Amino acid sequence: MKIAFIGLGNMGGGMAANLVKAGHEVRAFDLAEAALAAARAAGCTTFASAREACAEAEAVVSMLPNGAIVKQVYWDAVIGHAPEGAILMDCSTIDVATAREVIEVSEAHGYQMVDAPVSGGIAAAAAGTLTFMVGGSAEAFARAEPILAAMGKAVIHAGGPGTGQAAKICNNMLLAIHMIGTCEAFAMAEKLGLDPQTFYDIASVSSGQCWSMTSYCPVPGVGPKSPADNGYQGGFAAGLMLKDLKLAMEAAAAVGARVPLGEHARAIYEDFARENAAVDFSGIIRAL
Ligand code: NAD
Repeated sequence: MKIAFIGLGNMGGGMAANLVKAGHEVRAFDLAEAALAAARAAGCTTFASAREACAEAEAVVSMLPNGAIVKQVYWDAVIGHAPEGAILMDCSTIDVATAREVIEVSEAHGYQMVDAPVSGGIAAAAAGTLTFMVGGSAEAFARAEPILAAMGKAVIHAGGPGTGQAAKICNNMLLAIHMIGTCEAFAMAEKLGLDPQTFYDIASVSSGQCWSMTSYCPVPGVGPKSPADNGYQGGFAAGLMLKDLKLAMEAAAAVGARVPLGEHARAIYEDFARENAAVDFSGIIRAL
């Protein structure tokens, strides 16, 4: 299938390469020349503009930094430029309202579209093991699913337009809260005279067990290998966690959801990211 891919950064570069490996003809565009060169090396055909990449595409995938850029790219280069009837998939993490607006306008112009943000970082994008949370109609999901499956280990239909983004920000708000909780517990256990490995052996089989502890332990040398074992590099950057928490707080305000712990987590990551935006989000343990 001819697939236009817009946004070949840390995530999009690996995703586009996996579409090529699955046998698709990938028509790639990014503003950065280095990203285009890497995409060519991975077997994509690159174009001088997003419009040219979208012309003739049966499907469009975008992986862009934020909602304003997603809107700009869809308004300028996708809608009215990709052939009518193409299936559009925005995999960026953006606000629910913009996701719904872009889907509504795209569908009014004869396309089908889903929001399909991902869980999993740069390594999962490269390995093709992302989880896609997909919002859109049943028909749009059925068309998007096999394309997304070539880039991930799970593709889940969350519901109507925007619910993929809703799932993503609720998941990441929960992740931020239990990562901070895990860090607090390890830091306090140590002050109380407990060895971190011993605390892990106890808590990982007790009721405090959670993903931040047993899959992504913030203490170096404890639990399976994680960014803590690599100087808090190479995972999910604190700056991106802060971005997702801000989106979550906006969404909570829009629907009147009470999220006192989510708000507190946002404030903690805001402080931390001021000087540590590129540090893995589990590095928050250094601030506790
Ligand atoms: P990135 O900054 O590495 O990549 C974004 C790419 O978009 C860049 O190459 C940039 O040149 C390109 N771009 C910007 N404006 C453009 C435009 N108008 N036209 C074409 N290309 C344009 O970011 P990333 O880490 O790949 O993240 C992409 C999205 O994925 C974000 O929404 C992010 O929140 C989400 N995400 C990232 C991670 C992660 O671990 N990095 C994990 C999950 C979700």
